[in-house]
Amino acid sequence: MLMDDVKEVLISQDEITQRCKELGEEISRDYKDTVPIIVGLLKGSVPFMAELIKYITIDVELEFMAVSSYSGTESMGDVRILKDLDRSIKDRDVLVVEDIVDTGNTLLKVKDLLYSKGASSVEVVSLLDKPSRRTVEIEAKYVGFTIPNEFVIGFGLDFNQKYRNLPFVGILKEECYR
Ligand code: 5GP
Repeated sequence: MLMDDVKEVLISQDEITQRCKELGEEISRDYKDTVPIIVGLLKGSVPFMAELIKYITIDVELEFMAVSSYSGTESMGDVRILKDLDRSIKDRDVLVVEDIVDTGNTLLKVKDLLYSKGASSVEVVSLLDKPSRRTVEIEAKYVGFTIPNEFVIGFGLDFNQKYRNLPFVGILKEECYR
């Protein structure tokens, strides 16, 4: 069972739902005069994006991008595009959905890229934020939860592609890293 590998539940399913409602309301207010393109970064943002958009009450369009910047438990500086956007974002307001902002490298590169494609604004909504790990100056405008410097899994976040389907954010037992 997946649950057997979890040391601790850090953020419960109910807490995530409640926070998504609040973020959805805030985003709906902030973007009420436009139709933003919501860009989910595959694969980690999928559960969060699915939950969040239920509580966005204005018109939006959905797009997906896949970038790679990560392997195992250490973030790396380099970002590669594995899947690009399907449609133009020229002169559009873009809201990037991310699972977690760690060093900030991924978001910095993705934001630059989206601006270079002609977006008129690019903001970020991230389920989690680990500000203590930041190496570049970037902040998500909307943050679900600020967490300490722990490696977390669940609700989209993986370890070697596993645990994304856990319905909460948790901490993995140490023996599972080996
Ligand atoms: P950054 O470029 O901000 O350092 O890293 C962002 C990416 O690293 C996230 O999208 C995520 O895939 C991965 N990452 C960073 N911290 C964690 C963590 O605690 N747990 C997991 N599972 N992935 C993380």
